[in-house]
Amino acid sequence: MLHVDRIADLRAKCERARDSGLRVGVVPTMGYLHEGHRSLMRAARAETDFVVVTIFVNPLQFGANEDLDTYPRDLAGDLAHCEVEGVDCVFSPSVAEMYPRPPLTTVHVSDLTANLCGAARPTHFDGVTTVVAKLFAIVGPSVAFFGRKDAQQLAVVTRMADDLNLPVEVVGCPIVRERDGLAMSSRNAYLSPRERESALVLSRALRRAVDGVVGGERDAALLAELVRGMVSAVPEVTLEYIEIRDAHDLTPMTVIDGSALIAVAGRVGGTRLIDNVIVRVDDSGVTADVGVVSNVGADALGSTTPV
Ligand code: AMP
Repeated sequence: MLHVDRIADLRAKCERARDSGLRVGVVPTMGYLHEGHRSLMRAARAETDFVVVTIFVNPLQFGANEDLDTYPRDLAGDLAHCEVEGVDCVFSPSVAEMYPRPPLTTVHVSDLTANLCGAARPTHFDGVTTVVAKLFAIVGPSVAFFGRKDAQQLAVVTRMADDLNLPVEVVGCPIVRERDGLAMSSRNAYLSPRERESALVLSRALRRAVDGVVGGERDAALLAELVRGMVSAVPEVTLEYIEIRDAHDLTPMTVIDGSALIAVAGRVGGTRLIDNVIVRVDDSGVTADVGVVSNVGADALGSTTPV
């Protein structure tokens, strides 16, 4: 496995791979890798020939009072995960390498970033799109793999690549969950055992909303109320938002029809967590994408099974 930290080196490796006829796949991450990230690597391994994982805690996407300084980091552990997944090249640049001077050019995707996480984190998505645009420019023509865990990020990055004709195909991959339903996240490392237990209400409430739709409920406000009620019963969890939106363009949905994203953000102690499910309602009935459960422990390679 190659490991580079210079932009020029990554660019050269990707160009050389394409010159040899290989399809380049890229998995952008902030490191502290877990099974969610590894599922993206496996998707990239399956669909492309030269798999790049980028590890960069991007200061631009953290707000002034957020956890940039305490964000968990473990480069040695991350490299081991990448090695096991057969990654070809890891790119872990320094902040100075990515931002030798404060950028005067940033990327802003409007509308899609105004609500959901954008409401509480007004500068976050500009930071994300700016660093992802830079990574796409460095890696060049490729397929990029993102998790649906960050559903709004996926929608925003997909739109950016489309609007700017970037030579990158953006692919969304299922949420990977712990066996008890908690969506995997690097930030779960912040949770005390008690907070972790409380945090489960988020995935349970989303499941209950799915059950509601399966049971025939189509009123988004009522489904949102159901989620609010469940979360408010757990005093350690403060719901930041429950939103039900069109899964493709994130426009608000009042009656569930087509693909609905049911998304939550909440605070558990000092930790901000997000989660979501997608429910599809059409003539043939209701299907739900609630993610997959990690098999880590059962299988050394950590394969995943649909739930
Ligand atoms: P992060 O390192 O948190 O910035 O995430 C890097 C990529 O991994 C993003 O595309 C995330 O959506 C994805 N990701 C993080 N957690 C999960 C998860 N539990 N399941 C699937 N993808 C995930």
